[in-house]
Amino acid sequence: MGLFDRIKKAFSAEPEKETPVEQDQAIPETPVESDATPVESQTPAETAAAEKTETDEPASLATEDDSETVSPLDTPTAAPVNSEPEPEPEPEPEPEPEPEPEPEPEPEPVEASAVTEESDAIEEVPETEAVTGDMQAAETKKYDDGLEKSRLTFGQRLNALFANFRSVDEAFFDDVEEMLIEADVGYETAMKIADELRDEVKLRNVKKPEAVSQAIVEKLVDLYGQEGQAEDSQLHFAPQGELTVFLFVGVNGAGKTTSIGKFAHQLEKAGKKVLLAAGDTFRAGAIEQLQEWGRRDNVPVVASAAGSDPASVVYDAVKRAKEEQFDILLVDTAGRLQNNVNLMKELEKVKRIITREVPAAPQEVLLVLDATTGQNALVQAKQFKQTTDVTGIVLTKLDGSAKGGIVLAVRTELHLPVKMVGLGEQMNDLQLFDPNRFVYGLFKDIIVGDGPQKTTDTDVSQAIK
Ligand code: GDP
Repeated sequence: MGLFDRIKKAFSAEPEKETPVEQDQAIPETPVESDATPVESQTPAETAAAEKTETDEPASLATEDDSETVSPLDTPTAAPVNSEPEPEPEPEPEPEPEPEPEPEPEPEPVEASAVTEESDAIEEVPETEAVTGDMQAAETKKYDDGLEKSRLTFGQRLNALFANFRSVDEAFFDDVEEMLIEADVGYETAMKIADELRDEVKLRNVKKPEAVSQAIVEKLVDLYGQEGQAEDSQLHFAPQGELTVFLFVGVNGAGKTTSIGKFAHQLEKAGKKVLLAAGDTFRAGAIEQLQEWGRRDNVPVVASAAGSDPASVVYDAVKRAKEEQFDILLVDTAGRLQNNVNLMKELEKVKRIITREVPAAPQEVLLVLDATTGQNALVQAKQFKQTTDVTGIVLTKLDGSAKGGIVLAVRTELHLPVKMVGLGEQMNDLQLFDPNRFVYGLFKDIIVGDGPQKTTDTDVSQAIK
């Protein structure tokens, strides 16, 4: 059965009794989100969704198409190399200038309690109660809302395609190609779909517009499912008790700092001890922006003066993270032009320092891409991929974009796994990427109409072990 049929089946089925959520993804710590948080952790949309009584979960759905069998605790898949002891004339451990005052344990009463529990709390909380069907419905709703623009635009494109429809002829297939390219699914994908459609239309003698549009989407979804079979879209963390380092790279404005801020918030709420490194010493205001996130998240930030050597900041951060037993260090980096050799070298240097201090790190090098830039994001990713061992993509601003189709192109043309998606401005709108929910959010009108929604949980905290 192709991905299209699996999604159709899963999302069309009658709501059933609540079944246990996939515990391999389940949160092993602090009970679910403090819905009451006075900060922006719950949007009206989420609240509305959470009120639905829907229950859930086709156990097969989440894993079937990604064939993910790797546990987040496994050692890094694309483990960065470069462990050779280079004679790096590197930042000597200066007497820790530590310019960053510890963030005052301030606002957010609910979160503050989570913080004081520190990381020990993680093991103590039973996993099972962590996730509810309501939460999953809320997350499906996030995908629904975040992809609304893309969905509507795709629907409009299909409508336009069929507005002047007379017959399924060559001109029609040209229009299909054009429509798909405009929808940002990628050139190769567009060609492939149009070719397959030609064959199928002949074979099945399809004539009705609805049947043709169904066939287009079915092919898109199935191709997407096939291409993703070997993809590892999980986030990889170090084993319990060891330091995990995630490096965030990408061009200016893609959303690195914001994604780090949102992610740190979710990690911290899951009971992890999180440290941030302000490695973007280049962009004006980037350090302050990360420090502000640190204050909001109640998470310390290692920073230095603007213009200083990012490698030195990262060195200080790794040292502190090790000495003070942090669980996770998130490193911001300067937005670089993917074709700027010096900047790319600098990035390599930062990475080498991390690996020298923590050989298994960085566990993830996440390339942050702005979905609103469509094909440009794809070009950037291709160039980054040539020079950096990117392990996954964080695709931001999907909520503000009609270019959700880019996810298909990222998979079929780049073969890099999308690991997280930004579906809105709120703290919890950064989500683990769920391909099925995504596809459903993008094409649901064609797949099943407004049928019941069933998926597994993808709140980012679900990946945290
Ligand atoms: P950086 O230069 O890569 O660090 O980019 P920033 O983190 O400063 O983000 C640039 C802008 O994008 C900021 O105004 C963010 O609020 C916005 N942004 C980042 N992620 C998202 C997202 O998922 N959705 C929306 N709507 N805006 C986002």
